[in-house]
Amino acid sequence: MIDEGDRVLVGVSGGLDSLVLLDLIRTPMLFLPSYSVLAVNIDLGFDEDYETYKALETYLNGGGYEYVMEKTDIGTFSHSDKNRKNPCFLCSRLRKKRIIEIAEDYGCNKIAFAHHKDDIIETLLLNMFYAREISTMVPNQSIFRGKFHIIRPLAYITEELVKKYAREQLFPTMENRCPTSRISKRMYIKNLLNELEKDNKDIRENIFKSMTHVKTEYLLTKEVVAVSGDNDRERTRKPSLVGGEIHNIEEISLDMERDGKVGEKEIL
Ligand code: SF4
Repeated sequence: MIDEGDRVLVGVSGGLDSLVLLDLIRTPMLFLPSYSVLAVNIDLGFDEDYETYKALETYLNGGGYEYVMEKTDIGTFSHSDKNRKNPCFLCSRLRKKRIIEIAEDYGCNKIAFAHHKDDIIETLLLNMFYAREISTMVPNQSIFRGKFHIIRPLAYITEELVKKYAREQLFPTMENRCPTSRISKRMYIKNLLNELEKDNKDIRENIFKSMTHVKTEYLLTKEVVAVSGDNDRERTRKPSLVGGEIHNIEEISLDMERDGKVGEKEIL
């Protein structure tokens, strides 16, 4: 995921997962190429007193991190009357768009997010349940014709292990003040999996492994066959950004526009 000379932007929300990623990405290991790290926090504007912002700033200064912190109204705007769509969809899109712009400004070629194994499992179900497609967030994805790579170094680590590491390292807990965070569709899926796990303790691992055993010959065809005349058969392929190349920031916006038609989808 990380090569010699990379400049890695690490998205830091202030949540424990992102602090774990930031810590691990700087931890000396047996073999480590030479690369630099830039921590980036996009404050979403939920906390009027900026307590979380200040706590994170103190943490980053204390750790000697190079960082960029930005105060925005992305979160509050996404919850306002001006947004008629799901707040999470707009919020995460605008935040990721801004992060990509910062990566460009600061010369970062890799963008690391703290999504772990459980996030990837939940996203698969989210995309099936609400976006009518089988896809998830991938560990390493090229975007904009290879200009950047989105990487997820925690992709194969369970949430339980990530949280255990955070507890052992005594990372500060910063409250997530988003009103949607406890009632989001992601939370619904998480609770659903917890329920299912009571009957089948392997359910998360089985779902995760199933993504590496895809038998396309036992799925419905990728091509939509539309009958447009007597014997005329026209084949069309639906455009998809998932797992493929995203060429520019506008395509992210285009995907947002499609939200109204196909529901929500996690692509980055
Ligand atoms: S839970 Fe809140 S902060 Fe997270 S994506 Fe949704 S609206 Fe944004």
